[in-house]
Amino acid sequence: MKGRPHGRPLHVESHHLLKYATGCMSPLSSTITADRLTRLRARLADAGVEAVVLTKPENLTYVTGFAGSAGVAVISQTAAHLIVDFRYIEQAASQAPHVAVGRASGPLLDAAAAVLRQMPVHRVGVEGEVMPVAAFRRLQAAVEGADVVPLDGVDHLRWQKDPEELAAIRRATEVAEAAFADVLPLIRPGAVERDIAVELECRLRRRGSERVPFDVIVASGPRSSLPHGVASDRVIGAGEFVTVDFGAVVGGYHSDCTRTVVTEPAGDRHREIYHLVLGAQQAALDGLRPGMTGREADALARMVIAEAGYGDAFGHSLGHGVGLAVHEGPTLSPREEAVLAPGAVVTVEPGVYLSGWGGVRIEDLVVLTENGCEVLTRSPRSLHEVRA
Ligand code: ZN
Ligand code: ZN
Repeated sequence: MKGRPHGRPLHVESHHLLKYATGCMSPLSSTITADRLTRLRARLADAGVEAVVLTKPENLTYVTGFAGSAGVAVISQTAAHLIVDFRYIEQAASQAPHVAVGRASGPLLDAAAAVLRQMPVHRVGVEGEVMPVAAFRRLQAAVEGADVVPLDGVDHLRWQKDPEELAAIRRATEVAEAAFADVLPLIRPGAVERDIAVELECRLRRRGSERVPFDVIVASGPRSSLPHGVASDRVIGAGEFVTVDFGAVVGGYHSDCTRTVVTEPAGDRHREIYHLVLGAQQAALDGLRPGMTGREADALARMVIAEAGYGDAFGHSLGHGVGLAVHEGPTLSPREEAVLAPGAVVTVEPGVYLSGWGGVRIEDLVVLTENGCEVLTRSPRSLHEVRA
């Protein structure tokens, strides 16, 4: 450890000219890799396992730097192996220079088991929430003599962002907001939801998003009461809410933002519901700080909505972590007892959804600071009324 490579990349001779041509992420520094391995190894020690097999793409990327879609890592207290197939060997060698990169000629898990059989292991952890049962059984049969057990808390390693991660998230937020500003003039009565979504997805890509991380939500009129109403063929009418939920990816890191606008003529009820949601969000932004649990954070906004009599109309959590995955921990939810720490990047997205009439969600991205939070999103949050 201490910054030393954990083995030599294999097959590097023919790849030394490759300069991150594959994949969009630059390699992690040896210090970052060493720190992440140290924290993962502490988790292994706590859980009483000698090694872990990682298959979840976000965790592979976080620990090794490899950002390809298929790979397996085997991490013990003294070794760190990344196993990929023929398609990814060059990418793995360039993105994960501080771990031992090996090439599998057959199934990746069989290659992982072969590595484990060379180690003195009795208990091997896996990411129990994502490993399919068939893969679990295959690995258990192949490791011969060691127990394969679910290991919790690997995702938790990613909750606090370092400055480089935060810079990527800030950039993803800027890209998404620039794309939204591009399409805002298209949101008007007579426009079709799907046309706006297609244009926004196109603008996200043109503005620099590496891909479109999730289907853009454009939900108008009564459809705006669907929290996840993907764009339909509906034509936007006058006097309607239009909810748009969108994000970008930069350097593998996501952003997530929702704006709800109203087409003229807006009624008193539109303004009442919008300002209720905005007030709830502001209460959460004002009160959010490290040291509170996800449940306490959720309550900051939920109380405001409940006191106005709309508690049943806010049926989802206040927010979620954002990073290498667009939805990750920690969550701001009535069921989250985990304590929030500085560096956590989370959404704050209260909503009120009234079936058959419409709904409002306002979603901003924040990073927890030492004594509060900083809002990363810049798009105005005041009610935008679209002239007909
Ligand atoms: Zn969103
Ligand atoms: Zn979200």
